[in-house]
Order: sequence, then structure tokens, then C-alpha cells
Amino acid sequence: MIRIAVVVLSLLAAALPARAQERIGVVASFSILGDFVRSVGGDRVAVTTLVGPTGDVHVYTPSPRDAKQIADARLVVVNGLGLEGWLPRLVQSSGGKATIVTVTKGIKTREADEGGDAHGHSHSQGHGDEHTDPHAWQSVPNAKIYVANIRDALIGADPAGEATYRANAEAYLAKLDALDREVREQVAKIPAGARKVISTHDAFGYFADAYGITFIAPQGVSTESEVSARDVARIIKQIRASKIPAVFLENISDPRLIQRIAAETGAKIGGTLYSDSLTAENGDAPTYIDMVRHNIRTLTSALAG
Ligand SMILES: [Zn+2]
Repeated sequence: MIRIAVVVLSLLAAALPARAQERIGVVASFSILGDFVRSVGGDRVAVTTLVGPTGDVHVYTPSPRDAKQIADARLVVVNGLGLEGWLPRLVQSSGGKATIVTVTKGIKTREADEGGDAHGHSHSQGHGDEHTDPHAWQSVPNAKIYVANIRDALIGADPAGEATYRANAEAYLAKLDALDREVREQVAKIPAGARKVISTHDAFGYFADAYGITFIAPQGVSTESEVSARDVARIIKQIRASKIPAVFLENISDPRLIQRIAAETGAKIGGTLYSDSLTAENGDAPTYIDMVRHNIRTLTSALAG
């Protein structure tokens, strides 16, 4: 009788949604990964994001609170590819036993565009992965790989939640398929000759490869690098030679550089693109899907007219 009661109780425990204190603690390095983990983990996970909305993950300075959060977490979800240069030391200092999950595993990476010798000085103090472009999430097909990796990591950490994680991931992957179609439909509205824009830092290479819009940026793949006068002169020359119609601001970057380039070339400012960070709930891009949708609509309305 007692044994039956125990079995019934444990079945009940498995069927009930995890209570707050039983949730799987997951730390995501930046807001976009946090959104993916929430979409797959649902009520079973408690997600904390180190670099929050509008933060710049390239140049983040971790706090003691971050080390505490990592120490308490079951999983730490990171992009890798050199994006979170500050993370290994933070994980080490936290002394935790969390599993580190690199969600770009299996993604075909692209090399950063070096633009001849224009960036030679910018990279002199960089780290090992500086020539790999880390912004893989900007292609929706890549985001699907991120989501699959997160699903598998959550199942590994919490096998009792497997059915939930699989169902959540499947539903979210279907939304990403629809988003990918939407981006392609929007790009098709832009005349082929106008699919060329200027952004602040080189964050849209994967987007460009996936959807056929060329992005040129005065700053390299990391916002750490400084923009030289030579880089700016090169961009201005390119805008004039290729008759590039629009330049775009970025939510994580100082707008003054792009404003100056616009003023000198007469290219119009097409709006703000979200590259490496989501916004707060009341902003234009509180989720990854909102971000991609905002970006493609901003591009289309500036370029299709
Ligand atoms: Zn970036």
C-alpha cells in the first residue's frame, strides 16, 4: 500500500508543472539566447540573462552577481565563436558545476570580412576567434540550429521534461520557418540593385548570406575595434561609387558615426537595426522573432520605395 502511494506520488510529481524552486536554472549570455531558452524551456526553466536588453555582449564587464548566477545554474548557454570573450574567466571564478552549452555547434561559420588592410590596426589586440563572425543568429535557418541545440541540452539536464521540450521546440521551429518565409517575401520586394546597405558594425554577414542583401560596415565584427578615419573614408567612397541608398543605425552602437556618414554622402538614414540585443518588453524587439521582423521591415521600407 505504501509502495503504491509512493509510485502514485512520483507519477504526480512528474506530471505537474515544475514549481518555481524546482525549475532548471539556466543562464544565457545575452538576451537573444535568453529568448530562445524561454521559448523551448517554458515553465520548466528559470532563465537569467547576463547581458540584458540593449546591452553590448562584445564589450561586457561581468559583475559579482553574474558569477553567483553561474554558480547556481545547471546550464550556461553561450554563443561561442569568440563572442563572449569575458565568459571563460567568469565561469572559472564562479566555481560552479554548470554545463556550458555552445549553441552554435553544427553551424557553418563564416569568416569576417577583412576589407583588405583597412582593419589591420583594429584587430591587433583581438583574441583567437576574431576572424570568425559570431553573429550566426541573424540567419533564421541558423536560429533553428540554436533552438535544436538548446532543446537537446535541456533534455540532457532535465530528462523528465523531454516531452515538453520537444513540443515547445517543435512549435517554435514552425514559427521560425514562417519567419524565414516572411523575410524572403520581404526581400523580394526590394529591387535587386537596391539590396545594398551600410550598418555600423559587421553584424549582418549571416543575414546577408542567407537572404542576399549586401551589408557594408565601417566597424568590424566586434564593437571592440575602433573605427579609423581610413575606414570611414572607404565607406564614404563605397556609398558614392555604388550609389548605396540608405545607412542604418544600430541599437547597441553610438549613432554619431552613421549620422556623419549620412551627412557627408547624402544617403538617407533608413532606421535602426537590432543586431546583438533585444529591447525591453515595450520596445521594437522584445523577442528574436520581433527583432528579425523589425529589421526586415525597416530594410524593406527604406529600400523598396
Ligand atoms: Zn556584434
